[in-house]
Amino acid sequence: MIWRDRGTVRVNHRTPAPTDYESLPTPVFDREIRQWSPDFVPPLHTMSNCPMRCGFCSIAAGSDTFLGKPRVMSERRVAEHIAALGVERVDFVDEYPTIPRQIRIGRELARIGHRATWQCYPTAGDQLLDPRNCEALAQAGCRAVQLGLESLDPQTLRQEAKPWNHPANYGRILENLYNAGIQVHVFILVGVPGEPINFSLRWLSFLEEHGAHILTIKSGRYRLTRRAPDERRATVDELHGLQVTGQDNQLLNLNRDQFRYTSNGLSRKRVEAVRDLLEEACRRHWAYQVTSSLPRWINRGRFSLEQLHQAADQLSAHRPAEPSIPGSHLKRGLSKITSAAHEELGLRAAPTSYEDVRDLAARLRAGDETVAAGGRRG
Ligand code: SF4
Repeated sequence: MIWRDRGTVRVNHRTPAPTDYESLPTPVFDREIRQWSPDFVPPLHTMSNCPMRCGFCSIAAGSDTFLGKPRVMSERRVAEHIAALGVERVDFVDEYPTIPRQIRIGRELARIGHRATWQCYPTAGDQLLDPRNCEALAQAGCRAVQLGLESLDPQTLRQEAKPWNHPANYGRILENLYNAGIQVHVFILVGVPGEPINFSLRWLSFLEEHGAHILTIKSGRYRLTRRAPDERRATVDELHGLQVTGQDNQLLNLNRDQFRYTSNGLSRKRVEAVRDLLEEACRRHWAYQVTSSLPRWINRGRFSLEQLHQAADQLSAHRPAEPSIPGSHLKRGLSKITSAAHEELGLRAAPTSYEDVRDLAARLRAGDETVAAGGRRG
């Protein structure tokens, strides 16, 4: 870690051996610094990195054990730290909080007689298809999850080494979490090399169908992230659909922009067009106004989903969301989608409004389902 201590730049040198998480003391937080929340909700990092190695991801690159076996704090120790801090809510920033681990943390908290709830970043695996697992999570203390759904294309997910994500199951997973009272944020990734733009477009219909069970949505643009497995492959020209076009010598730049797409007609302009449309989808989402008014889980977590729904109804009656982008941007985006749909699928569709393009997305998804029912891949 490097930081500025008044006029001096301090540097923590790497330890010869990565620190054992179990031996870490309870963190000391400066309680003079106020968060945007009435109660104090500390971030806790109880595991050094994620072992999953998704192609695009380098979230844990700062860890000494990045891409290796994570260092993990025992659930007992996690519970003891929460109790020692005297807090009732925690923001776990770990990259891989599995369901069994969360349930064990809940048990350890109960054992020492301390109640606490949390938000965290689990994976969207099929364990969440069982409503009992979602209820067990809620019972343990989980109140919000941030899920990387990333793509609706199974092939893209396999390519990015995230094969446990099954788009056909996303809807039920979201519903199970919602029914258990768990707030859900979803991450969507647009512009993965080789993924036809029509797959990203399908999100418009997905969000329409399943948005009731989602609280917040973030669509991100694919970047070649420094130290991610994809970056390594791209550097030796082994990442299909992407070509590195230059060096990146900026030390602290985590996202490399020196690349171009080489397959399936993918281009940055098409990626931006879909992202503009997704932004419009967010504006039309039931929770847009209320979640914009209550930023971050540390605030939203003080309210039940029912309360947030009531507030959303009130806000939308008094102050409907404004359009996300000017009409001229929307027009430009629609023309990019028109050409992509024609090139990728031979479709002659010419959407002239957001509603048109959303309906096109719905037809594409309906086609996927028909193909899946017939036993062939879409
Ligand atoms: S995307 Fe999530 S599961 Fe995949 S490597 Fe990154 S943190 Fe781990």
